Amino acid sequence: MSEKFDVIVVGAGPAGTACAYLCAKSGLKVLQIERGEYPGSKNVMGGVLYRKQTEEIIPEFWNDAPLERPIVEQRFWMMDKESTVTFGYKGLEWAKEPYNNFTVLRAPFDRWFAQKGVEQGVLLINETVVTECIVENDKVVGVKTDRPDGEILADVVVLADGVNSLLAQQLGFRKELKPDEVALSVMEVINLPKEKINDRFNLEDNQGCTIEIFGDSTKGNLGTAFLYTNKDSLNIGVGTTLSSMMNAKLKPYDLLDYLKNHPMVAPLLAGGESVEYLAHLIPEGGFHSVPKVAGHGVVVVGDAAQLVNAIHREGSNMAMASGKMAAEAIIKAKERQDFSEASLNKYREALYESFILKDLEKYKDAAHTFEHHPQYFNDYVPMLNQAMSKFFTVDGTPKREKQKQIVKGFTGEKGTLNVIKDLYRAWKAVK
Ligand SMILES: Cc1cc2nc3c(=O)[nH]c(=O)nc-3n(C[C@H](O)[C@H](O)[C@H](O)COP(=O)(O)OP(=O)(O)OC[C@H]3O[C@@H](n4cnc5c(N)ncnc54)[C@H](O)[C@@H]3O)c2cc1C
Repeated sequence: MSEKFDVIVVGAGPAGTACAYLCAKSGLKVLQIERGEYPGSKNVMGGVLYRKQTEEIIPEFWNDAPLERPIVEQRFWMMDKESTVTFGYKGLEWAKEPYNNFTVLRAPFDRWFAQKGVEQGVLLINETVVTECIVENDKVVGVKTDRPDGEILADVVVLADGVNSLLAQQLGFRKELKPDEVALSVMEVINLPKEKINDRFNLEDNQGCTIEIFGDSTKGNLGTAFLYTNKDSLNIGVGTTLSSMMNAKLKPYDLLDYLKNHPMVAPLLAGGESVEYLAHLIPEGGFHSVPKVAGHGVVVVGDAAQLVNAIHREGSNMAMASGKMAAEAIIKAKERQDFSEASLNKYREALYESFILKDLEKYKDAAHTFEHHPQYFNDYVPMLNQAMSKFFTVDGTPKREKQKQIVKGFTGEKGTLNVIKDLYRAWKAVK
């Protein structure tokens, strides 16, 4: 292919497709290259798609997109071996337009989303790996692919190649991820009849529920598990940082088996048929790990730029929003015919002014704090469960006495000062 494009987008996940779609919509000549058989064929997500950032690209996408269920309930479990402390929110306003968030399966969703780009004029080629960026005089001028004669030129190359982004590494924008900057997550899709899902999760057909599970779901290690409802299947998964996994000598598939057989979880899955097993990395280094995101003729978006808020399990929305901001900067750069780093840095500026970098900055020390202080997961979650058990047991103990026993349960075991220190540290990490 010898012709030159305005934009080459590497990757057809939410970040790449958002960028490709908007560039093509504004009249730019866009080539999108995806290594999978089709967009989404290799992509993994627990399954929560955020309405706001999707709608900003395709208004009222819910009338057309392959969605599973609008999420009306979000639950959180602090789980011990045979108990769980739960809290959450259920709001039926989320079952109606404009909805809040949705569960999705990535293979059909990504395929649909990329097709929307094609309808705007994106030239999408699948089953093609971009092997490196072509750099001339310190400027990215195109890409090499694994196809014969696979060199293609463009004014701007968008790296939307996901968490590993070998291309951003090749440019020296980022280093290889360290084990405490990345989580390994494994998940299964389990088919279950719709009626069973509705009964077990107290839902109607057009309502979905998410459960985030902390504590014993990761055997007390830093990380979380999730259980989400699709139309007639469930997504269940668990992940911890690679460093936690290595330190605790955990095997991801053992952890998922442990979770599926946990007495709090197993009844929800009973009778289901496992139809898909997936594993993927999640960039969890946060603010400190965000690399250089703009250079001469190149920008980096989505997971490739480490844009994931692990505490709020937001990734696809940050991918789409960063893809949109990159597209806006590229469209302006095209108007000026200036594809220099200074020009494309408008993308970086927008990113740092947006919720994405503001949120990552807010939690910049959280991962480090919780990684180095495992007591939050392996001590406090069981203690919280014991406290709630005591609180709800009517055994003739006067309530004031019971209150004292509960406080003593926390402070007696760890010491008052240590509990105060732990609370202060946790508050500082998430404030
Ligand atoms: C288990 C799990 C659960 C998650 N749950 C949620 C959730 O509930 N909600 C949420 O918002 N986020 C969630 N995330 C995070 C979310 O999936 C990511 O943040 C999001 O997919 C990032 O989008 P992206 O487009 O940047 O990257 P990706 O979706 O990874 O897309 C990258 C694309 O680039 C392609 N590619 C890579 N290299 C090349 C190459 N050299 N040449 C050509 N193509 C290439 C890949 O095949 C892929 O299609 C979860 C992640 C995991 C792993």
